[in-house]
Amino acid sequence: MKKILYLFIVSLLLFSCKEEASQEVENTPETKKEETTSRTGRIALVIHGGAGTILKKNMTPEKEAAYKAKLEEALKAGYTVLEHGGSSLDAVEKTIHVMENSPLFNAGKGAVFTNAETNELDASIMTGHDLNAGAVAGITTIKNPISAARKVMEESVHVMLSGKGAEAFAEDRDLELVEPSYFHTDNRFKALKRIQEKEKTELDHDEKVSFFDPEINDSKYGTVGCVALDKNGNITAGTSTGGMTNKRWGRIGDSPVIGSGTYANNKTCGVSSTGHGEYFIRAQVAHDISAMMEYKNASLQEASTEVIHDKLTEMGGTGGIVALDASGNIAMEFNTAGMYRGYIDTKGELYIGIYKEE
Ligand code: ASP
Repeated sequence: MKKILYLFIVSLLLFSCKEEASQEVENTPETKKEETTSRTGRIALVIHGGAGTILKKNMTPEKEAAYKAKLEEALKAGYTVLEHGGSSLDAVEKTIHVMENSPLFNAGKGAVFTNAETNELDASIMTGHDLNAGAVAGITTIKNPISAARKVMEESVHVMLSGKGAEAFAEDRDLELVEPSYFHTDNRFKALKRIQEKEKTELDHDEKVSFFDPEINDSKYGTVGCVALDKNGNITAGTSTGGMTNKRWGRIGDSPVIGSGTYANNKTCGVSSTGHGEYFIRAQVAHDISAMMEYKNASLQEASTEVIHDKLTEMGGTGGIVALDASGNIAMEFNTAGMYRGYIDTKGELYIGIYKEE
């Protein structure tokens, strides 16, 4: 009997040791890392090319096809980076380059004109794992403003540089510089002239007349933006723009303002905005969406809907956002007739839309 009892105790002890050992194996750093990667291994990318009075009746089939093709090219450029295990930061920069280099959008080549017939560009970028950010404002000679924003983030102790100083910094960092005339496009110049003509004939002259005029909305919007999620669960958001047609006095919009035009936080989401910048600054649109997720536990869709359709709209602001969260859920909300937009989601499905009802 004693012998049996002894054997029973020994086998009990042996069993519990084995249990402990297997738990230890489960908790080694390697296995933990694998778990994290498989949980966040999804990749996704969402872009916009500006929101405004974009109506089918004002669009030719050729123009529509050109926009869609460029949006697809931009999406695929960024997605390829993510597919090959690249960072969301590289993906966002690559995607935005495609749109900055196209005259179709109000960013880089194709930027709108200021009241003084110049092109002054703004851009910003933010990484969600470290809440680091960079931005440039009012620049006239940097070919790809988003790359300048990235350099500010990575290679300076600052967040936002402007004008001549930003250009000197970009030159120092070997970024490609161009003559200001590189940004000239006839369409954008004509849009400026149309607004200025209108201004002259307005009896009750008010700068706001040109800013709010829905007839020229589509020629003043066209900012580009991108938010990406990489396989490590890192979110990056970026935005690039020429601002608003006929802007003056060194006006800076929301696009280079972290929290308004761009925001990213791995804990919540990444957001890129487009629209009437003054309202986006006042409503802190991009950060507000993240804050609603963080403090109110709202979903990305709930937060985006409330910020765009309730808060921004009630203030009188027009425009929209694209956003994605840490699980790769995507939101694209706008209160205008249209927004150039598209995504490749976590299932690899591609979507491109222009008008509201798409
Ligand atoms: N948000 C930009 C600005 O106000 C314009 C735009 O998105 O089209 O400068």
